[in-house]
Order: sequence, then structure tokens, then C-alpha cells
Amino acid sequence: MIKTTPDKYQDIRDAVRALCAEFPDEYHRKIDSERAYPEAFVNALTQAGWLAALIPTEYGGSGLGLAEASVIMEEINRSGGNAGACHGQMYNMGTLLRHGSTAQKELYLPRIASGEWRLQSMGVTEPSTGTDTTKIKTSAVKKDGRYVINGQKVWISRVQHSDWMILLARTTPLADVKKKSEGMSIFMVDLRLAEKTGMTVRPIPNMVNHETNELFFENLEIPEENLIGQEGQGFKYILDGLNAERTLIAAECIGDGYWFIDRVTKYVSERVVFGRPIGQNQGVQFPIAESYIEVEAANLMRFKACQLFDAHQPCGAEANMAKYLAAKASWEAANACIQFHGGFGFANEYDVERKFRETRLYQVAPISTNLILSYMAEHVLGMPRSF
Ligand SMILES: Cc1cc2nc3c(=O)[nH]c(=O)nc-3n(C[C@H](O)[C@H](O)[C@H](O)COP(=O)(O)OP(=O)(O)OC[C@H]3O[C@@H](n4cnc5c(N)ncnc54)[C@H](O)[C@@H]3O)c2cc1C
Repeated sequence: MIKTTPDKYQDIRDAVRALCAEFPDEYHRKIDSERAYPEAFVNALTQAGWLAALIPTEYGGSGLGLAEASVIMEEINRSGGNAGACHGQMYNMGTLLRHGSTAQKELYLPRIASGEWRLQSMGVTEPSTGTDTTKIKTSAVKKDGRYVINGQKVWISRVQHSDWMILLARTTPLADVKKKSEGMSIFMVDLRLAEKTGMTVRPIPNMVNHETNELFFENLEIPEENLIGQEGQGFKYILDGLNAERTLIAAECIGDGYWFIDRVTKYVSERVVFGRPIGQNQGVQFPIAESYIEVEAANLMRFKACQLFDAHQPCGAEANMAKYLAAKASWEAANACIQFHGGFGFANEYDVERKFRETRLYQVAPISTNLILSYMAEHVLGMPRSF
């Protein structure tokens, strides 16, 4: 494995690596080829307490910060796995922790910490609005102590492997609010109950082994106590969660980046063509060295974002920059890795093509690179608003 500078998270790294070592390449390859869910792997992470890292100790978790959570996600991807199967619980947790009532925390957190319940899903994206989130059409109308949900979501992940979902819906129509970011609320949705009472789930087969779905809501009723925080403030709450999500996914891309660099440096040092290792050619060395530099740089921004988030300070710019840099770096590393494996890069048994597909997703989801650039231009550099 390539050498990286030891940091203060070494104990966590060693422990997560040891657990991941019980799930070698063959395991993840089989799960991918069967389009299955890595149930045994996610259960092992849950039982070892890693997916409850952010839950305070009084609720049965380990009370760690986003920095530690990001190291856990990074190590999963660095080991050859895909944290996409379980990262939702980490960033969804933040919404509940920061904005949930004491009663809600007492109800959900101990059960999530023990593994009785999973909180892996978040329903934001809609087919007709895409990235323009404030235009969402899914509505939640209050009636006799309940909210009635109607509308549609798309690309909602891990619905079949989660017990709960955090749902963003409009409680006041867009036409009736002063600011377009007002009038949206977030709710806890009991997924198994919802499937029987007004929510239809339609899976979307896709390029990655990522369980994701279209959701249709038809008069789904949820109790008013499932509202998180104040009605109408949901967009603000979800932004916190999105910053955590971007930072965690940056860490996963960093894990992917190291994985690609590990594999490709080993391969090019051993593969002999024209009577010498291909890694002796500078045309081969330079793209790999460049990727390593970029992964290391992205890593610094990821820890800056974590530090600000954990200190409850604004971190939108840093979370976006970390996600942008890390997704770009892992993609460049993926390209170098597949290129210098030659034909073998395309063979399933090398795992390169699987990781290549997995890391490509992060140029688009959970936010596309263009939208990050637009955020930076407008909110950080103060240029005129483009939309
Ligand atoms: C596998 C997968 C899992 C996902 N899981 C979830 C989930 O669990 N929950 C959830 O809520 N969502 C989820 N998503 C949705 C994801 O967050 C969106 O796909 C993403 O935010 C992009 O939205 P969109 O697909 O509607 O693209 P669009 O908004 O239609 O944009 C398409 C492309 O157009 C470009 N573009 C759009 N607007 C602009 C602009 N103003 N300026 C410049 N370029 C622009 C961008 O390059 C963008 O990539 C998932 C998506 C995938 C593929």
C-alpha cells in the first residue's frame, strides 16, 4: 500500500481496515455482479458501531465528529468496498441530531445505534425539477394531526435497505412564500409502513450497483410528530445535511483515489513490456504521480470542511470545494488506473472497472461539478446570479 502521512485517526483507520479485510475483493465483486446489497458487510459495520459514529454516547453511539465519520467512509472505499451502500446513515443522522426534538432523538437514535433501525434514505430529488430543489412539487398538507403527502421523487437510494427516510416536501406552495427557500419541511417516513399506505417504489437499474428508486406518493399520511424542527424551515436544515454529505463523499473519493493509485503503481511496477516494467516510462509515471498530488490536496480541503462542520461554523464553500477536488482527483486516478492496466483493466477480476464505474457517479451526484462551480462563482466570489 502507498505510504500516506500518519494522522491522528490511525486507530480508527486500523480498526476499520481490519473489519474491511474480512470482506475481500471477491466479496464485493460477487455482490456487484449479482446486483445485490452487501448485507453482511453493512451488518458487520453496524455491529462494530461504525455506522453510529455520529450518535452521541447518551443515545448509544460513539459521539464522534464528521472528521472521524469521514475517515470511516474513506477506509471502506480504500479497502475496495463502496461506502455508497451505507453512507446515507452518516449524513442523515446530522439532520436528526441538529434539528430533531429530544423526543425524536430518544425514539430514533438508540434504535439506529443498536442496528434495530436503519436511516439510510433521503428523498430530495424530483424528476421535473432536478437540481432546482426549491421548485419541488411534492406537497405535505396538514390535516387532522397528520400530513398528507402527494408527489414523486427520483433517484432515492437504499429505500429497500432502510427502515426510515428523511423526506423534503413543500408545506407552503412556492407562490405563497417570500423567499423560494421557505415553505419546505422535512419528515421522518417509516418506509415499510409507507409501502402499504400510499408510497410506491420502482427500482431504477443503473450503471453502478447502487440501489436507487423512483417513489410515488398518493395520499400517504404521516403523523405530525414526524416533522423535524419547524414547519417551513426544512430547506435550511437539509443544507446542513448536504454539506455533511458532500464532505463524506469527498472522503470516499479520496479512499477511491488511494485505491486506484495503490493498484496501478503495483501493476505498472510488475508488468513488463518491451523488456522493462511499463512503470519505468515517464509517460506512465506522470499521470499517476499527478493523481496522487491531486488526491493529497483534496484531502486537505476535506479536513478543513470537517473541522468547520464539527465547530458548527459555515462550511458550504469548503464542503463543495472538497467534493469537487476529491471527485476530480479520484476520476483522474481511475482513468490512469484503467489505462495502464491495458486490457486487464476491463476484466472484472481486477476490480478496476467496478471501482471506475463507482467513482464516476460522484461527478454528478449528489451534486454535479457545474453546480459546485456555480455556487463558488455566486456565493464565494460574488459574481452575478445566473439562475
Ligand atoms: C445513483 C444515484 C443515486 C442518487 N441518490 C439520491 C438520493 O438518495 N436522494 C436524492 O434526493 N437524490 C439522489 N440522487 C440524485 C442526484 O442528487 C441528482 O442526480 C443530481 O443532483 C443531479 O440532478 P439531476 O439528475 O436532476 O440533473 P439535472 O439537474 O437535470 O442536471 C443535469 C446536468 O446539467 C448540468 N446543469 C444543470 N443545471 C445547470 C446550470 N444551471 N449550470 C450549468 N450546468 C447545469 C449539470 O452538469 C448536471 O449534471 C442520486 C442520483 C444517482 C445517479
